[in-house]
Amino acid sequence: MRRALVAGNWKMNGSRTAVSVLVDRLLSGIGDRETTEVAVCPPFPYLGMVAELLAGSGVALGGQNMCEVGGAGAYTGEVSAEMLRDLGCQYVILGHSERRTLYGETDQMVARKFDVASTAGLEAIVCVGELLDERQSGRTEQVVARQLDAILGSQAGVDGLANAVIAYEPVWAIGTGMTATPEQAQQVHAFIRQRIAAHNPQIAGGLRILYGGSVKAANAAELFGQPDIDGGLIGGAALQAEEFLAICRAAHTGR
Ligand code: PEP
Repeated sequence: MRRALVAGNWKMNGSRTAVSVLVDRLLSGIGDRETTEVAVCPPFPYLGMVAELLAGSGVALGGQNMCEVGGAGAYTGEVSAEMLRDLGCQYVILGHSERRTLYGETDQMVARKFDVASTAGLEAIVCVGELLDERQSGRTEQVVARQLDAILGSQAGVDGLANAVIAYEPVWAIGTGMTATPEQAQQVHAFIRQRIAAHNPQIAGGLRILYGGSVKAANAAELFGQPDIDGGLIGGAALQAEEFLAICRAAHTGR
């Protein structure tokens, strides 16, 4: 059975004080993590501080993005995969829709980042998902297939997915309060798993596919109860400790 993962994407939110209060509240309520793994992805400046606060807790740390070039060099403003590892990150979110739409990240850039993350030993959380007009015009699977195929065509390819996670995040559901129905989400999750299974059924069977897009305590259990939904990537609700903890509990009980 795949172990559920609930990862909080804090986006560009926080301050030293707010971050330490949030982590403190998370750690005091976290409870049993045997069936559910929990990760938080703070903004870069707080990674070191959060790593220290989380030490020994079993809660994993992730970056929200990274440079598509590995190693070191003249890339002003960038953060490397190796730096994320050095700071204690296990995960990195790649290809989030905000990176794709606001910062022009292409499928090829995301695929290059996937290669660099795999080489550095980071587990990528690769985000895929369609825009509202793409769904309304019946192109959801076409868009998700294109985004996935870029990853499958990377150097790391399907083998790289043995140590990675896919997050299906319909763009129209991110930060909007609109959530895909469990049936809509399950349909795309099953499609993702089948597409990967065509390359390697074993890797597809073990791959965790998270749902993201306005997940809340109130809708989490129903989503996580679907056979191909293995947890969630949580934005807004990850900034509220009680709400995030309730979502983590739903991943524990909803399966
Ligand atoms: C996200 O940013 O990955 C996300 C899912 O955001 P929200 O939960 O706020 O929709």
